[in-house]
Amino acid sequence: MFPLYGQVILRTPLSPRLTGYDINATLVPDKHIVSGSVKAYWINPSKADVSEALLHMYMNAFKSNKTDMCTEGDWSAAGKEGYGWIRIKTIKDKNGTDLLGNIQYVQPDDSNIDDQTVLKVTLPYAVKPGDTLWLDMTFETKLPSPIRRTGFKDDYYFVGQWFPKFGVYEPAGMRQRPADGWNCHQFHENSEFYSNHSVYNVSVTMPANYVAGSGGKLMSETKNSDGTKTLTWRAEDIVDFAWTAWPGYKVFTDRWRDVDITFLTSQPRTDQVERQISSLKNALEYLDKNVGPYPWPHVTFVDPPTIGAGAGGMEYTTLFTSASGDHVPDELRMPEMVTIHEFGHAYFMGIMASNEFEEPWLDEGVNSFWEQRIVDHYYGNGYGLLTLPFIRCSDLGFSRLQYVSDRSRTAATNDLWSWNYPHGTYGVMSYSKTAMWLHTLQGLTGEETMDHIFREYYRRWAFKHPSGKDFIDVVNEVVKKDLGNKYGQDMNWFFDEVLYGSGICDYSVVGISNNKTTGYRGVVIEGDSIRIEKPDRKSDTLTCSTVKLERPGDIVIPVEVLIHFDNGDEVREQWDGKARTKDYVFNGIHEVQWAEIDPDNKVPLDVNRVNNSYTLKTNKKAARRMMDKYVTLMQLMISTITL
Ligand SMILES: [Zn+2]
Repeated sequence: MFPLYGQVILRTPLSPRLTGYDINATLVPDKHIVSGSVKAYWINPSKADVSEALLHMYMNAFKSNKTDMCTEGDWSAAGKEGYGWIRIKTIKDKNGTDLLGNIQYVQPDDSNIDDQTVLKVTLPYAVKPGDTLWLDMTFETKLPSPIRRTGFKDDYYFVGQWFPKFGVYEPAGMRQRPADGWNCHQFHENSEFYSNHSVYNVSVTMPANYVAGSGGKLMSETKNSDGTKTLTWRAEDIVDFAWTAWPGYKVFTDRWRDVDITFLTSQPRTDQVERQISSLKNALEYLDKNVGPYPWPHVTFVDPPTIGAGAGGMEYTTLFTSASGDHVPDELRMPEMVTIHEFGHAYFMGIMASNEFEEPWLDEGVNSFWEQRIVDHYYGNGYGLLTLPFIRCSDLGFSRLQYVSDRSRTAATNDLWSWNYPHGTYGVMSYSKTAMWLHTLQGLTGEETMDHIFREYYRRWAFKHPSGKDFIDVVNEVVKKDLGNKYGQDMNWFFDEVLYGSGICDYSVVGISNNKTTGYRGVVIEGDSIRIEKPDRKSDTLTCSTVKLERPGDIVIPVEVLIHFDNGDEVREQWDGKARTKDYVFNGIHEVQWAEIDPDNKVPLDVNRVNNSYTLKTNKKAARRMMDKYVTLMQLMISTITL
């Protein structure tokens, strides 16, 4: 084994490496058990003594029907063999002190004593600031079935969240935290993860006919005399270590710059290898250019076969899973979308490593925004998800449809902890709504400033666990630098509405009128002279046109308004969007034919785009614009059914 400290893969450490894991494990397929030992360390990053440690015991989420995972969701074991669990058999510290009597399950999030996904180790002494705690444990993990990200089906294994793992000890001030403490949440149906960046040495012994992959770099593979083999992987500065094993995997390798790419798939999907690998390269290229460098020299990804579909669409930094089917037409870029999305997490979950339990939008929403940009950039001329001669759908448009069609879209603010979203709104809020307001922010600031924001966010917060507030601070600084006070002193008003508020954005053109203006018609009294005045005929040719706008939504966003006259002239107005109504009045010889709010689709957060335009008289252009809308709408509806 390599020493946990020190450099084996990377030239310099990317993170403080406050935790590290040396794991030796064996997969016993007959019993669906992974058992082994782990030597784990944790460094106290705070200025105070700490005398307890909290560990995630994720696999116990599958132990009974009473866990948070099962009561909040719909997972249930596939028969007696389907339950999953983890137990610690021995636990000692560096001096060999037995701590088995010092462990107990705790529930930091609720009072559900049947949830045993967090373990507290009470230490007989204090770990001083900067000191290291070593725990030497043996453990046994029974994998669950059906697979919920992790587990087994027949001889297929996807092994994630499988070993005792430290929570994150946050010193006061980190993520605006008022006091020091462990951040170690239970495993919920709707929650992902939060970890320190760690170094991993992982050896797994398994039957020799299995083909395996992991988030580490393969350092050695040795055949054992008992028909097994032992694979040893090393990973540095990643937040989680997962691996997979299945006799049926087909392995393909490639390279992007200095990054070794490994792709595991199944025989029926070998015709998708080129699609899969090129989509990963597209994501690597786009995120490198617009956010920051991908810092690891390796990435492995897996398209789980049909029997392992429950493992699809998940991220573990340098390992991720895509999702596909055995026959997916080239025009439907669902596999590409999933690959781009899950790889993108290497940045927001893996490099930034924000707290997915507490701020899921900061990972899933931000990552969805980038996924949509990448998919629509590389595929289908802006309609990246589906491109057929008469049906096309952008990735952005599909996500927008999920948001605007969700009945509960105003039931929650966008800043909730993941398991607190009511009425099934976790997905729509964390993914779609967040992506829509990030696109809207880009519409306001421009793509260049948006890229500045993310490059600065990366530069400042990579490997440092930023909070949403830290992200907002970067937005405020960069917008001020690039655009001055165009949108006020800061952008807090925007986040108050879209992130901390639950309202909707909707702007509407409600009417257009064109009235002939006439001069004065009536009595004129001047001294003793009383006469009737008639208007000059010429003034009858003038028209007073009014475009009537309304804001039915709660969210206030500056919007552009395009006004089209009967001679083809167009006027573009900037409305600050603040008042409930706004009338634009024009006096001239031409009539207004149609008007449209947000003609360039800069505000996809607007929940109803049909009311954004109003046409008084049909002319070819207006008719075509409306037709475009109907076609787009039809395409979106059809694509929903297709997917
Ligand atoms: Zn995701």
